[in-house]
Amino acid sequence: MSDLAKYTKELTKLFSSSGNILLICHINPDGDAIGSQLALYHYLRAQGRQVEMITPNNLQEFLKWMDGGDLINVFIRKRDKCRSLIEAADLIVMLDFNQPDRLGEAEKLVEASKAKKVIIDHHLDPPDFDGLMISDPSKCSTSELVYELIGLINGGEFPYKPYAEALYTGIITDTGNFEHGSYSSRTFRIVADLLETGIEKEKILNLVYNNFSAQRMKLQGFALNKKMVIVPEYQTAYISLTREDLAAYDYVKGDTEGFVNLPLSIRGIVFSALFIEKEGFVKLSFRSKGQFPVNEFASDYFSGGGHLNASGGEYPGSLDNAVKYFIEILKKDFPRFNKNNQ
Ligand code: 5GP
Ligand code: MN
Repeated sequence: MSDLAKYTKELTKLFSSSGNILLICHINPDGDAIGSQLALYHYLRAQGRQVEMITPNNLQEFLKWMDGGDLINVFIRKRDKCRSLIEAADLIVMLDFNQPDRLGEAEKLVEASKAKKVIIDHHLDPPDFDGLMISDPSKCSTSELVYELIGLINGGEFPYKPYAEALYTGIITDTGNFEHGSYSSRTFRIVADLLETGIEKEKILNLVYNNFSAQRMKLQGFALNKKMVIVPEYQTAYISLTREDLAAYDYVKGDTEGFVNLPLSIRGIVFSALFIEKEGFVKLSFRSKGQFPVNEFASDYFSGGGHLNASGGEYPGSLDNAVKYFIEILKKDFPRFNKNNQ
């Protein structure tokens, strides 16, 4: 019996006994956040349940095509409606995060809600939670976890194209199209089932990956050519971009997505960081190869978190200071994090 089977009874009961079900994903939603949310939405709607969806802030361009995406309420655009939805919910299901601050402005309202609460997530170190925590960091994505849970609740496949498209999108985006992350032989079996529903793999790949502006491509070239710094003694590379850099290339949200992965293809580099200057703070992304827990790096130094090889956080100051602080940490603590040569 799968480890997840212990949740079947409770989840089935929660879904069938709750009048208003609300699904919420994390701030700056990625393909897995939206994919797992929409997949659960399609399944529950097909069972005749009353379901609403909220995301704390906007969907990026490469996710807007998804079936049902237009039904997701963006909190920062529809605050009153979202407040009512949270207040009216009997069950709140949170997807693809385990830290309450990932709810953005919705955090306090969700916390105050009397609804029953469920978290479905694959990030490391789930905190104590007043509700049902379904956490499985061995899964490559929350979408893979949702596939397994719905398989159990439904007593088998749920063969519906929009559902399969959503899960497929979540799985490819969280694994960089099967390049990184904790995908397994089981992931490929799941993907085989999803493809058998008739979803068009090439169409989805084009919508997700081949959907950038020319300016974004030029920004990537600039970032690699002019802004990437290699620190060979710490097997590290980092890229920092100022607000001016971004403006010069007509930056829109999501344009720097994926940049942090690029330096890892340099021989010998095990750790990569991306610094993006925001108003009053710096947003950081971290990636690593092998045994280098960037989730711990992010939580120890940048109030963040994530996975073993992909994480993020923030620095409350200027871009220059963020970079200086980062170099200091490397000097002091690189050997503690890099367990690759042990
Ligand atoms: P990305 O670099 O793509 O923005 O994020 C990579 C991973 O790190 C994501 O899975 C996300 O969950 C996590 N992450 C990114 N930023 C933050 C943050 O500010 N706080 C926490 N707790 N996790 C983050
Ligand atoms: Mn995810």
